[in-house]
Amino acid sequence: MSAVRRVSVFGATGSIGENTVDLIARAPEAYNVVALTGGRNVARLAEQAKVLNADLAVTAFEECYADLAAHLEGSGIEVAAGQAAIADAADRPTDWAMSAIVGAAGLVPGLRTLRHGGILALANKESLVTAGPYLLAEAKRHGATILPVDSEHSAVFQALVGEDSAAVERVIITASGGAFRDWPLERLSEATLAEACSHPNWDMGQRITIDSASLFNKAMELIETKEFFGFTSDQIETVIHPESLIHALVGFRDGALMAHLGPHDMRHAIGYALHWPERGHVPVDRLDLAAIGSLNFRTADPERYPALTLARYVMETGGLSGAAFNAAKEAALDAFIGGKIGFLDMARLVETVLERLAGDNSLKCDKLTLDRVLDMDHVARKIAQTIVDGDRLRQSGAS
Ligand code: NDP
Ligand code: MG
Repeated sequence: MSAVRRVSVFGATGSIGENTVDLIARAPEAYNVVALTGGRNVARLAEQAKVLNADLAVTAFEECYADLAAHLEGSGIEVAAGQAAIADAADRPTDWAMSAIVGAAGLVPGLRTLRHGGILALANKESLVTAGPYLLAEAKRHGATILPVDSEHSAVFQALVGEDSAAVERVIITASGGAFRDWPLERLSEATLAEACSHPNWDMGQRITIDSASLFNKAMELIETKEFFGFTSDQIETVIHPESLIHALVGFRDGALMAHLGPHDMRHAIGYALHWPERGHVPVDRLDLAAIGSLNFRTADPERYPALTLARYVMETGGLSGAAFNAAKEAALDAFIGGKIGFLDMARLVETVLERLAGDNSLKCDKLTLDRVLDMDHVARKIAQTIVDGDRLRQSGAS
């Protein structure tokens, strides 16, 4: 790829963002960095903007504006703040953009970049979970390409290159099993925040690390697989693979199973999306299979991981259930981080919110629109919040 590419990174100061910036910084002559966005870590955002000579740096929080401006004074780099400023940054034309803001806040900036008809490298899981059909329709409408960055979906994408998707029988998404995979079931209710924040294999942001312990992260990935590739819930399986070296497998009707292996380094999937359709050099460790010796697999027990059962419900229900699921999951995670609910209460809370909305017939929706998704996000968060505030999760006997 010879022409200089215009790129933006949304969520540049996060775990995925840092890895993306690292790859771009290795070949500065190849990129014109249009915008970098971050949240509260403005010192790091300013540093990245200077190293990459970005046109614009945006913090999501208006109260952080002065601090960011002070860090960038005299650099010639434009500064802005607030969610609207992030969406405006997404309106600046790019050939390639990374969507790596955490949470539902990543949806709108990702959607806005699609209008340029370029490539959206999608790490933000919430975009597909909450608004998959709408996101894909928008990409089609604008002639844009979405490339998955989550390692499992990048693996499936790579295994499908040159294949007829009609010949796919099943897709197997692997799961590490998270921090508590070897804990006795009865101990799980006592799991603390600190314990949930340590991942056995991957170094990631706090929220996704906790989601990995509860397998809500895997639940999101199953829903993403359905939305992005169009497979049915029946075709999508998951298996616990403690080494996390096989990211996903695709099984074809002739019985062949294609596995994608790679080290625990997100630059692998980010690099694939950055260089696609070519394969560029990516500075990740090469796997030494003889040193690894063996790979293990075990069944994902639904009793231990109720989030997986909820994912099946969402895949089969469709409509606004993904938006409700994600919002309730984010609220549950906030409540767990805030010490208001226990580890196992997170799944109970999400289930209670989904049940309530299904009871009102509110999850049905023939045609997703951004407004409907954002409304449902708001409603589901509010229900979850009310339950947490009133401690009704326990009182209702749901626990
Ligand atoms: P991090 O928490 O490490 O980073 C999140 C980024 O978003 C940071 O730049 C943060 O800024 C910014 N941010 C936080 N809150 C807001 C907000 N309200 N509005 C705008 N920006 C905000 O997350 P990860 O990098 O781990 O994950 C990012 C996304 O990618 C998530 O959706 C995650 O599920 C997905 N993902 C992550 C993987 C990983 O390996 N980490 C793998 C696959 C997918 P600041 O830090 O400055 O406050
Ligand atoms: Mg993943």
